[in-house]
Amino acid sequence: MCLNIVLKNLFFTSTVLSLIIGCADTKGKNGVSWHDVARREMVHNQIVARGIMDTNVINAMLSVERHRFVPKELERLAYSDYPLPIGEDQTISQPYIVALMTEKVALQSSHRVLEIGTGSGYQAAILSLITREVYTIEIIPSLAQSAAERLKELGYNNVYVKCGDGFLGWPEAAPFDAIIITCAPPEVPQPLIEQLAEGGRLIVPLGDNFQVLTLYTKVNGKLEKTDIAPVRFVPMKGIIEEQ
Ligand code: SAH
Repeated sequence: MCLNIVLKNLFFTSTVLSLIIGCADTKGKNGVSWHDVARREMVHNQIVARGIMDTNVINAMLSVERHRFVPKELERLAYSDYPLPIGEDQTISQPYIVALMTEKVALQSSHRVLEIGTGSGYQAAILSLITREVYTIEIIPSLAQSAAERLKELGYNNVYVKCGDGFLGWPEAAPFDAIIITCAPPEVPQPLIEQLAEGGRLIVPLGDNFQVLTLYTKVNGKLEKTDIAPVRFVPMKGIIEEQ
């Protein structure tokens, strides 16, 4: 009984202590901070455990400090297994979905990638560690600006951010070896199909209330389609809404 109380107190004290240490963001004795631990656990429990095998994707997910891409008050939840709000009614995707979409487009270090829906810039940062250049378009000016500043500050120098409607793509920089769309259109915008290189892959959550993560590969100028999984993304805005 007595030992039980002592143990409970000990547990309480150490929990409080670790929270205090964690909040101050100081590193432990071994030079490891709370987010290093949280990131490793995220990759182990949510990414590798669910079957992601591409070591470039795994290493990128281990490296990018996701807590830097969410609002300060949600920092502690950054490594959790769900999407989080990033302002303007938009969300940063669940870590596993970021990893899955990245793995499915089969990136190589020489590739140039287009992302539609910059949001926080997190997906762009992951892509930038694996590929040569990342072009990313965001329709909401405040998000485009904060993501561009954040990516620059964190040293992701091969990412180019543009504010605009991703429906139109980025013709000046096309063709792209891969295109990742992180908002949901009812169908793939035609300009993006045109801007995908031969042999290139495009991944997109297609639909409105019920969405399916869909992978397209361009073979002899035509798209081959594979359904991946049911998902839930914010809708694509802009030109596509008027069609
Ligand atoms: N990839 C982001 C999360 C995307 S949330 C991240 O890693 O944080 C989807 C984003 O798509 C939102 O920021 C939304 O504003 C943006 N979006 C919606 N419609 C768009 C369009 N037509 N063109 C570009 N961005 C768009």
